[in-house]
Amino acid sequence: MTDIKSMTQEEITDALCAMGESAFRGKQVFSWLHRGATSFSEMNNLSKSLRERLDKEYYITAPLVVRKQVSKLDGTIKYLWELRDGNCIETVLMSYHHGNTVCISSQVGCRMGCKFCASTIAGKVRDLTPSEMLDQVLFTQLDSGKDISNIVLMGIGEPLDNRENVLRFLEIVNHSDGLNIGMRHISLSTCGIVPAIDTLAQENLQLTLSVSLHAPDSVTRSRIMPVNKSYDVEELFAACHRYFKKTGRRISFEYAMIDGVNDHDWQADLLAERIHGMPGHVNLIPLNDVVESEFKPSRRVAAFQKRLESHGLTATVRRSLGGDIDASCGQLRRKEMEARGGNAE
Ligand code: SF4
Repeated sequence: MTDIKSMTQEEITDALCAMGESAFRGKQVFSWLHRGATSFSEMNNLSKSLRERLDKEYYITAPLVVRKQVSKLDGTIKYLWELRDGNCIETVLMSYHHGNTVCISSQVGCRMGCKFCASTIAGKVRDLTPSEMLDQVLFTQLDSGKDISNIVLMGIGEPLDNRENVLRFLEIVNHSDGLNIGMRHISLSTCGIVPAIDTLAQENLQLTLSVSLHAPDSVTRSRIMPVNKSYDVEELFAACHRYFKKTGRRISFEYAMIDGVNDHDWQADLLAERIHGMPGHVNLIPLNDVVESEFKPSRRVAAFQKRLESHGLTATVRRSLGGDIDASCGQLRRKEMEARGGNAE
């Protein structure tokens, strides 16, 4: 059986043509899938025999809602989905004045080991398929009744550790007969896998690359992000400058403010120095309190922002959404896995 929602429209069309069907059937099937059809029997503009044949050869993914938490403070919705194999992933829907943004997961768990992150505590279980990433957007839209205008790949997982599936997902979600979400409305976050940033640059996509930086010096960054031991800050910034040169796209730097660790003035100065020469944007993130974490929220967010701005950088403080729900990435999945019997595998 083949996962039909991980196929591009062109691949579906080719497969149907090989069955002796007309090419326009490919567009019909693709459009059904991207409107949320969960079975071929719903596709009532196809012949019964074709529906039966598709049902024998393909399956349609559709995650189940295990939990849904709605913030009473700001309406942020967090979904915990169960996938076909019983694994769980999280998706968060946030409403801003410019539209609705869905933050999706790209892997079940994560192997990158960032010290402030609940998603990595039990490691990576597996990569998500393109259909499983797409379903998070599609079924969040259908369940919430809110049109999704923006996607951020910033949930559980490192997208560039699942590059092939992520690129395929981007192609599918961008298709005009599907959800039709423009590349400029998509952000992809990475913890800094340098060769993968260089490979992504070659794709020349118009998405926003968002680097989870969290410290501008290697001593601090290695302490909180093990990836820095493989690709240190200097190599990372060199790759960012190359990325900008190739794509012309401004890079966004994510910076979770951790008390006494990365919130000193000298670190703001060093960050500005590293970004110098390209139009970077720094997104300061007030840290959520993760019970298991040794890191606590910084009390110097405003001062750090001012210091960056004094160097001519744009720095914004991310509105902390969903403060009354388990909005921090990985927390809800972890609780569910513990409730089911011990750990996150
Ligand atoms: S912050 Fe992102 S890359 Fe780092 S462990 Fe968490 S999910 Fe993985």
